Amino acid sequence: MVKISKRIAQVAESPTLATSAKVKELKAQGHDIISLTVGEPDFETPKQIRDAAIEAISQNKVNHYTPAAGILPLRQAIVDYYQKYEGLDYQINQVIVTEGAKNALYSLFQVLLDEGDEVMILAPYWVSYTEQVKLAGGVNVIIEAEMENQFKVTVDELEKHRTDKTVAIVLNSPNNPTGSIYSKEELTAIGNWAVEHDIVIVADEIYAKLCYNGNEAVSIASLSEEIKKQTIIINGVSKTYAMTGWRIGYALGNKEVIGKMIDLANHSTSNPAGPSQYAALAALEGEQDFVEKMRQTYEKRLSHFFPLLESIPGFRVLKPQGAFYVFAHVKEAAEQTGYQSVSDFSLAMIEEAKVAVVSGDGFGFPDYVRISYTQDEETLTEAVNRIKAFIEKKTKE
Ligand code: PMP
Ligand code: GLU
Repeated sequence: MVKISKRIAQVAESPTLATSAKVKELKAQGHDIISLTVGEPDFETPKQIRDAAIEAISQNKVNHYTPAAGILPLRQAIVDYYQKYEGLDYQINQVIVTEGAKNALYSLFQVLLDEGDEVMILAPYWVSYTEQVKLAGGVNVIIEAEMENQFKVTVDELEKHRTDKTVAIVLNSPNNPTGSIYSKEELTAIGNWAVEHDIVIVADEIYAKLCYNGNEAVSIASLSEEIKKQTIIINGVSKTYAMTGWRIGYALGNKEVIGKMIDLANHSTSNPAGPSQYAALAALEGEQDFVEKMRQTYEKRLSHFFPLLESIPGFRVLKPQGAFYVFAHVKEAAEQTGYQSVSDFSLAMIEEAKVAVVSGDGFGFPDYVRISYTQDEETLTEAVNRIKAFIEKKTKE
């Protein structure tokens, strides 16, 4: 028997990636499945971004290691981006480029946490936070945000969970899986509370550019100098520029923390792939029309899709303000079709309705499913028709 470390044994596979892999396998076997599982844009990476990578390769710019923190022009472009969009000033040594935002978060938790340190995670949460905290020896303190409260928490609720071991809080706005966005006022209250108690704010802003119907996401770091000092921003090019496969993310903030993340990169990854860094540079520096076009497309799809979801018997939904997910309470639908749990219901949906969504367990809310609307309107309509037919058939059986 091969020995597996206790550290890794407690980590579960990613349900978003696992469900999406399962669907790909079934599709390869010829099953006609509509996948509303993984969170990635269905757009192609814009041509000028792809061309920049090809050019970097042709010009022999990427044959060697880059600095562990990323190439200087890209770090500068990230600084400029946050200056332009959020009015924030950072120095180059406050930025690290990473293999996706996922790796930025992984490395940040490694740097921040000692054994037993607590991290506040607001549920429903993106599936990887809890696992990454555990891998760093930390303890997840889960604080549930209910649909009735727009899936958001107040400072009073946070305060109830604060202990002398609280080191950080993870704030993801716009949120995966709910699409909720914290307002400026709400963020200011949370930011001031974090400053008062010296709690690091991990601000995951990966969906910042995907806000709909007049909603806006502000960076918590922009709300005061004190809050900025307390915040590490996590972002990346995956969602904004349809670049999930390129694996470029970044972190911005306190230079000691970023410096330690760079030390860790020295010994773990060396550097993010060169061609991807040049592509990300072109993305941040190039024209941004693509981003607005994609945003408008998702806004339109949401307007089309949301009323359809609302009309499914046993589904309860809250209209998201951003990202590209709807987090639906489907416990009643599961019960009325004879399933013990929502996770069994989701499996049956894949097998019988031929529609795949991600069961809510991995997000800390087992009575829900996450539905990605990164498909065209026709496919989304067809998905709802299939779900309705499935529920009707099962209810009669
Ligand atoms: N944060 C959130 C909230 C996410 O949904 C994701 C998933 N893509 C990430 C971080 C990581 O993104 P990536 O590693 O592709 O930059
Ligand atoms: N973040 C995306 C999602 O939630 C991509 C998959 C993953 O990294 O978990 O589906």
